[in-house]
Amino acid sequence: MKALALLSGGLDSTLAIKVILEHGIEVEAISFVTPFCLCSRGRGCGHAAASASNALGVELSVFDIGAEAIENVKQPKHGYGKNLNPCIDCRILMHRKAKAYMKECHASFIITGEVLGQRPKSQHRTALGTIERESGLEGLILRPLSAGLLPPTIPEKSGWVDRAKLLAISGRSRKPQIALAEQYGLADYPCPAGGCLLTDPEFSQRMRDLMTHSEVTLDEIRLLKVGRHFRLTRGAKIVVGRNEQENMRLTELATPSDLCYEPVDVPGPTAVGRGEFDGGTTEIGARIVARYCDKTADDCLRIAVRRLPDGDEQVITARPMDEKAIDALRIQSVCRTSGCR
Ligand code: SF4
Repeated sequence: MKALALLSGGLDSTLAIKVILEHGIEVEAISFVTPFCLCSRGRGCGHAAASASNALGVELSVFDIGAEAIENVKQPKHGYGKNLNPCIDCRILMHRKAKAYMKECHASFIITGEVLGQRPKSQHRTALGTIERESGLEGLILRPLSAGLLPPTIPEKSGWVDRAKLLAISGRSRKPQIALAEQYGLADYPCPAGGCLLTDPEFSQRMRDLMTHSEVTLDEIRLLKVGRHFRLTRGAKIVVGRNEQENMRLTELATPSDLCYEPVDVPGPTAVGRGEFDGGTTEIGARIVARYCDKTADDCLRIAVRRLPDGDEQVITARPMDEKAIDALRIQSVCRTSGCR
């Protein structure tokens, strides 16, 4: 008897595996990475799942579902959660992948760390039923942490697992899981609350702006994770680094035809302008960069701008933009320039 576990590397999925291992059932795990993963250890959820699988002594395969995850964000059949998180569609996608892999690894059923009522969008009874039905896994998804509160599954009805040894946890409190972790001697559990940028309000605003104004690609999503973002017109935006590390990252992410801004006389940020820039928008970009330079207030600053990869350098003498004007262009606020939200 073998179970295939969906393992995020968080506490719940780790505990679910532990409960099934205690039944003497072999467990193999799969994990998924998307461009929106954000592990608390900052090294990606694939890494968190690898740590957890090592600690549990189970085999792990990691699948990249980035392209399909992007399509889900663009057009979720079951809608969004509080931010731009299409959790039900995302879980259906993961379970479909698990179903396909289940045959390959000769597993008889799936286990997940889902807890009834823990996440408002994807872990209520109706959502769990939808996920099961639309992934073609009816009766084959066992949720060991909440099984006592859910209808018996095929593994329980067939006597593969003892329903009496499963748990009946529900709700958003983490206390029962933390107590169980202590009982199992699991001292180090990464990503206790999971990590997905689509649940972050600021990132969601940037993602919405991207979907409204241009094609959504992996490169564009990488850029959303860095710096301060400003929408100048429907076709032009600028991203300004917040520290040296982000300045370097922006240089790496800049693509041919982007504009690269750098202050000439004082320390300050690197910025990347992407899209269609004319003389006016190029100057607005320089004024935003001037705002974030080390300077005396209201001094005009010289900002160098060149089109990548090898355009001629232009130096603009720019007056730093004032806060009110900056706020009107900031993507996480209402975008008044293009009137898009
Ligand atoms: S939080 Fe993110 S990764 Fe998790 S189910 Fe929702 S969209 Fe998918």
